[in-house]
Amino acid sequence: MIDYEAIVIGAGVCGIYQIKKLVDLGIRATVLEAAPDLGGTWYNNRYPGCRFDSESYTYGYSFSREVLDEWHWKERFSSQPENLKYLNFVADKFDLRRHMQFDVRVEAARYDEAANLWRLSLSDGRTLTARWVILATGLLSVPTLPRLEGMDRFKGPSFHTFYWPHEGVDLAGKKVAVIGTGATAIQVIAEIADKVGDLTVFQRRPNWSAPLNNSPISDGEMAAIRKRYDEIFAACARTPGAFEHEPDRRGFWEVSREERIELWDRLYDEPGFGIWLANFREIFTDEAANAEFSEYIAGRIRGRVKDPAVAEKLIPRDHGFGVQRVPLETRYYEAYNRDNVHLVDIAETPLVCVTESGLRTSARDYDFDVIVYATGFDAITGAYDHIEIQGVGGEKLGDKWKDGPSTFLGMLVAGFPNLLLPSGPQSGSASTNYPRAIEIGVDWCTGLLEYMRAHGHDRVEATDAAEERWTRHVTEMYGMMLMRKAKSWFTGYNSNVPGHEAGRIRYFVYNGGTPKFVATINKVAQTGYDGVVFGASHPAPDRQLRSAAD
Ligand code: NAP
Repeated sequence: MIDYEAIVIGAGVCGIYQIKKLVDLGIRATVLEAAPDLGGTWYNNRYPGCRFDSESYTYGYSFSREVLDEWHWKERFSSQPENLKYLNFVADKFDLRRHMQFDVRVEAARYDEAANLWRLSLSDGRTLTARWVILATGLLSVPTLPRLEGMDRFKGPSFHTFYWPHEGVDLAGKKVAVIGTGATAIQVIAEIADKVGDLTVFQRRPNWSAPLNNSPISDGEMAAIRKRYDEIFAACARTPGAFEHEPDRRGFWEVSREERIELWDRLYDEPGFGIWLANFREIFTDEAANAEFSEYIAGRIRGRVKDPAVAEKLIPRDHGFGVQRVPLETRYYEAYNRDNVHLVDIAETPLVCVTESGLRTSARDYDFDVIVYATGFDAITGAYDHIEIQGVGGEKLGDKWKDGPSTFLGMLVAGFPNLLLPSGPQSGSASTNYPRAIEIGVDWCTGLLEYMRAHGHDRVEATDAAEERWTRHVTEMYGMMLMRKAKSWFTGYNSNVPGHEAGRIRYFVYNGGTPKFVATINKVAQTGYDGVVFGASHPAPDRQLRSAAD
């Protein structure tokens, strides 16, 4: 007797929706979550300034009219506490918590071929079995720290932003160091600059960033948003990034420079990712177009930072705007106009070690009360690597993906039957408005389970050929994008993870955009799942595998 038909790993945005779908279908399922409670990214990341840069009302789930009608987003770009409240509201509304187990980490998941089931070894010593394992482990859920000598020597509090103490940290009057200038650091720095005694930012490479332009949402505005929900989600379904922001369809070189500036001036003052996603499409693919736009943003930075030398340091030189994930900011650049905020360029004077009282660069020692590591994540595949996932013949997923992932549609992996990845590497998730893509992935995976039930199958696996085809397709798309040159998690770069340093691209992200991704996966489903092999029913050793097309 197997313990569960399906086990979902992770109780974040994806896991919550996945368990809802399974419960609705009457599938015996549970969610295993390593943290003490649900919420995933919004449970863990409690650093000051943490918030969406998706419009809140495009980030929420779309599956329930009641949820849409009842929930009031308070800000256009909602903050972490509110987002966590929202996820709890959804889970409690549908009584999903009773299908979740917390404080339990899945250490290994091994496929038992003879029995056609997965055996999961858990941190509490239990072993659970399930027919299907659904990985909802998140894209950015494994934080990474620098490989710096002496990190445990520091006497004061020091932590990665992902582990910002839940009880909060009193920063008033303190000397604080922030290492990193990614999306997280940009939020933290702007938020704490006027609350700390002294703030020193250690920057190795600056990021391009533009204003978030956040604002509250009044009752009246929320009522208007509720009326527009169908329209909003339809717009998200139409656009490559699954936002309301639609690319400007005019050719970059077909309009005059004055017209381009006019568009950029407008977008710079508008909320959200418009500056990136409602821009000319050439900024993603054409070096000259990208350079002209990057220079425009550089001008904006120069206009906001009073000290010209600091401004120049905050302008990226190694990549153009938008080829890495663009962080949005609220008065980030103005933080550097404050007397208590200092920028240290660690490309010039690298960090050497952590001391008892602070940080040492090649130039000098700095004393701090608190050190904040905003140093990013082992993105996309990190969470998979943290579980020993073993498929047919004992093959380990970590070995198979050592040089980069290979999947079919980002959701199935050859050699790993009945393992579903609703927001896996090479799916539509990473490069788009995450919950929109999650709903798409979860719906597709759940549809596959329904199909199997209806047809009496209990085993599904992608073929090697389909996986090879999809991975080649994902890889080829990088060829068109300037993004392929970036040192960013979109290309699998992380200087703190052995083997992930710059120089080798990992093809993590599907770059075809939401409409194409949805059309492709729907076609696969509608045509009887071409590219996968289904197994008939038990007894397993006699099981004949046959293609869905047979
Ligand atoms: P990140 O973008 O990877 O940035 C990490 C930063 O730390 C980089 O500036 C990096 O410098 C620096 N760093 C890493 N290791 C270092 C070392 N050993 N020494 C010195 N500096 C080091 O990570 P993140 O800021 O956490 O953001 C990750 C992603 O999370 C974002 O791209 C976004 O998708 C998501 N996020 C979203 C939001 C939001 O929705 N508003 C907010 C925060 C994060 P190098 O570039 O030189 O390596």
